[in-house]
Amino acid sequence: MTTPCIITVAITGSVPRKENNPAVPITVAEQIESTHAAFEAGATLVHAHVRNDDQTTTSDPDKFARLKEGIETHCPGMIIQFSTGGRSGTGGERGGMLHLAPDMASLTTGSCNFPSMIYENHPKFIRELAQMMLDHSVKPEIEVFDLAMLYNAVDLVDEGLIKKPLHVQFVMNVKHSLPARREILEFEVAQLKKVAPDATWTAAGIGRTQLEVNHWTLEMGGHCRTGLEDNVRMDKGTLAPSNAALVERLADLCAKYDRHAATVAEARELLALPAHVAAAA
Ligand code: ZN
Repeated sequence: MTTPCIITVAITGSVPRKENNPAVPITVAEQIESTHAAFEAGATLVHAHVRNDDQTTTSDPDKFARLKEGIETHCPGMIIQFSTGGRSGTGGERGGMLHLAPDMASLTTGSCNFPSMIYENHPKFIRELAQMMLDHSVKPEIEVFDLAMLYNAVDLVDEGLIKKPLHVQFVMNVKHSLPARREILEFEVAQLKKVAPDATWTAAGIGRTQLEVNHWTLEMGGHCRTGLEDNVRMDKGTLAPSNAALVERLADLCAKYDRHAATVAEARELLALPAHVAAAA
């Protein structure tokens, strides 16, 4: 039996489609359709931002609610993760949809530079978001763009603001934050094993590093992320036709490392999330 790999698909992100790839789903209907195809291709966790009609990102709870409902209908048991990222609003707005109680939400546990902005996460604000997640039984995915964020997450566990086991994502190749180097990932994972031995982890390589980071992560026993939020191209530089195409590429790669795309039941158990209960007919 091979080891399961939870495939996360990050469907949309915040880069304008016209400068990017026409396959990036923008409307809620497009997002549901794209998530469904990615689910069929092997993704069991969806990471989502929502957009306004002019493509700017928003934390509009109505859009998040419609997205969640559509995914629950079409992708039974898929783990839904909302982004509380800094491009979706300011201050408390960024957690303004957590009352919808998605399975998970992203939580960045420190500040860093992004390509053309400061990604600001004040220690007090991080604690407010963590408390909101706790109140609504939302499991955080800790986004580690820079090393201190890993230890900051452990502090939050010690403060009672995050329940164990932690789930950590190492993000690589965001300009001005950590580059995609295997030695860095190996160090991060070794540290995680010391400071949070029961944690699960995943990694995301942004842009052209996406596939390479997927290879490292499969080999090192972590979980994987792909999707048009992070990268819009296939191997030879052609535009990826869909989120599903990127998921399929990753799902096919699993066998090379004695892994398989996790089922919904496996993914939920690995992340210590409640099992999916099918809706009554
Ligand atoms: Zn995101």
